[in-house]
Amino acid sequence: MAEIVLEGITKRYPDGAVAVRDVDLTVADGEFVILVGPSGCGKSTTLNMIAGLEDITEGTLRIGGQVVNDKAPKDRDIAMVFQSYALYPHMTVRENMGFALRLAKVDKAVIREKVEEAARILDLGDHLDRKPANLSGGQRQRVAMGRAIVRDPKAFLMDEPLSNLDAKLRVQMRTQISRLQQRLGTTTVYVTHDQTEAMTLGDRVVVMRGGLVQQVGTPQHLYDQ
Ligand code: ADP
Ligand code: ADP
Repeated sequence: MAEIVLEGITKRYPDGAVAVRDVDLTVADGEFVILVGPSGCGKSTTLNMIAGLEDITEGTLRIGGQVVNDKAPKDRDIAMVFQSYALYPHMTVRENMGFALRLAKVDKAVIREKVEEAARILDLGDHLDRKPANLSGGQRQRVAMGRAIVRDPKAFLMDEPLSNLDAKLRVQMRTQISRLQQRLGTTTVYVTHDQTEAMTLGDRVVVMRGGLVQQVGTPQHLYDQ
């Protein structure tokens, strides 16, 4: 687990567009923070800079006390969950969830244990031998989360993980994500444009607009304003 600290983070794309402007934000160890705001406000760019998928133009990013501005994504010890589940179609749920660990040459018995533990947490225990094509959207999204969990990352970064799901599934998955957070207590930064997700999921909500942080507070605090 780890604290994530953004200090004066700015992103200027090569075409000159400033997507994120001088953002200061501290996500405490174990905290679940939501980045919310309209399309184009800079949420994904912020998340991608934390992940290391976009370079930081200005400012300092620390994960677990270490400056990681120049570290490759794989050296940041974080796991990203995207809205497109990007599961490998030819692999079973078990193989999908264990794949990163297999690449890292983790012991087979350990992989098995971690995958089965994650499947229990995510209610996927009965589906371990299925392929993605035979799963519902919600189940696929849970496999994508399972893939992140088994790596025991310092932090989870989630970019609109529920936006491909229908309304009913979104509600179910919100509950599942809350349970997951309570159980694992892993530092999480979660991007959404959905007000309901923002108000129900996070410990704290960061409202962005035009690349700036406009407001930061607990859901209750923001609701009361
Ligand atoms: P959000 O995730 O809140 O929808 P983004 O972080 O994707 O917002 O985008 C923030 C701003 O940066 C937008 O104005 C967008 O058009 C711009 N932007 C995003 N990616 C690029 C890019 N690769 N090159 C230039 N501008 C970009
Ligand atoms: P590789 O398998 O070589 O890491 P990928 O195509 O899977 O390549 O990933 C492209 C980039 O995104 C890589 O730099 C990788 O480290 C990063 N990346 C891939 N998956 C994740 C993830 N779950 N979390 C964070 N970064 C990731």
